[in-house]
Amino acid sequence: KVRTRFAPSPTGYMHVGNLRTALYTYLMAKHEDGTFILRIEDTDQGRYVEGAVDVIYNTLREAGLNWDEGPDIGGPVGPYVQSERMGMFKQYAEQLVAEGKAYYCFCTEERLEALHAEQRARGEMTHYDGCCRDLPEEEVKKRLAAGEPYVIRQKIPRTGITGFDDVVYGHIEVENSEMDDQILIKTDGMPTYNFANVVDDHLMGITHVIRGSEYLSSTPKYNLLYQAFGWEIPTYIHCPPVMKDAQNKLSKRNGDASYQDLRAKGYLSAAILNYICLLGWSPKGEYAEQEIFSLDELRKVWSPDGISKSPAIFDPLKLRAINAEYIRRLSPEDFLAAAEPWIDQAVHTPIDKKLLCANLQPRCEVLGEIPEQLDFFDAMPEYDVSLYANKKQKTTPESAKEALEALLPVLSDEALDFTNRDAVFDACKAKAEELGKKNGWLLYPLGIALSGKQRTPGGGTDLACMMGRETILARVKAAIE
Ligand code: GLU
Repeated sequence: KVRTRFAPSPTGYMHVGNLRTALYTYLMAKHEDGTFILRIEDTDQGRYVEGAVDVIYNTLREAGLNWDEGPDIGGPVGPYVQSERMGMFKQYAEQLVAEGKAYYCFCTEERLEALHAEQRARGEMTHYDGCCRDLPEEEVKKRLAAGEPYVIRQKIPRTGITGFDDVVYGHIEVENSEMDDQILIKTDGMPTYNFANVVDDHLMGITHVIRGSEYLSSTPKYNLLYQAFGWEIPTYIHCPPVMKDAQNKLSKRNGDASYQDLRAKGYLSAAILNYICLLGWSPKGEYAEQEIFSLDELRKVWSPDGISKSPAIFDPLKLRAINAEYIRRLSPEDFLAAAEPWIDQAVHTPIDKKLLCANLQPRCEVLGEIPEQLDFFDAMPEYDVSLYANKKQKTTPESAKEALEALLPVLSDEALDFTNRDAVFDACKAKAEELGKKNGWLLYPLGIALSGKQRTPGGGTDLACMMGRETILARVKAAIE
């Protein structure tokens, strides 16, 4: 039975690449009817950020990536927070020592620094020289009894090759001689990150390890640990990096590298997830041409063989197009609910939001762009009368004045119901007919008189109905003067 885990380190934000890992990890489990586990890898204390774990919870929940086992809901192989597991690891390292696959190392910080300095001077990569690798057992016992500080290192074979298969990157081989005797347990008795990660994956019964390709180079060491313990090696699925362009990774500094950044800009959660899924993965067969996938569909369609090993380039335009499609597919009620916070940012006067949304929805690609379009509702901006000139509508500043004067009595009519958009439009249309003019000649100036802009979410009649009689009469009168 498939068991996967998403093992984020709480950094305070969810990078697009991390969310993709979470998504693939979730999909790998759900595609196989397996279990999706959340494990928080918080032992790198240097990186502790207040509230960072909540960012992980909130992001995954909002995205609909619900975990079956995790810190908050528990499960059979908890605890699910690495810092709460710290006491569990040393015994495993000691087991390896007893079997001759790891050893106590008493080398001091000073000795290692001097050693590494020498190696650097020779132009070598710094590495441990194996000084304590074959200490006589008697000596080890004595030094331990004397309370000398030590670390536990893995005894990496000096010869031979370690190979493993990655679902995405294929067969990878490394000469054992190139690997350092890595530290498993530090002087304070705590495990190193790599050691804890492997032991946790084993104890949690993880069958598929899905993570970023930056871990590819550590995987041979992980593999040697599995071999040393005689544990079953999981299936590895390393995902290509998410790039800004051919040279640069998508980094926090770009401003749109995290799920939070994208949400703050007004992208829908489902659209972000859909787009992120396509970063380095493509559907096959009958779905090959499809771009819009719900999470439910992905659970059926997604499989790891669609992951490509070439770096994925984050394409803001494609994200935008997908987001626009999700916006168009929202019901009017859902669009209103999604757009309302953005409308409220810009508009503090009472307006007909339903009518506004009916106009916004077909034109809106990103919700964050709503407020800037609505800046005229609260107060009439300064504008130039040259805006009234429009060849297609056959309007000029002079004709506009005529049109607005003709409209004023129509709009002032107490019997006109501004909550009935069609009635208002028909009344204006009747006026245009009476004057022998096109609708545009009459209504194009109205839009400008109400907004001070040529492009607005909705034409003159719609704007009038959104704003209501009082506001529009004041604005039309002001425009005529
Ligand atoms: N904690 C690691 C990270 O946040 C995950 C490593 C793994 O999945 O093995 O990048």
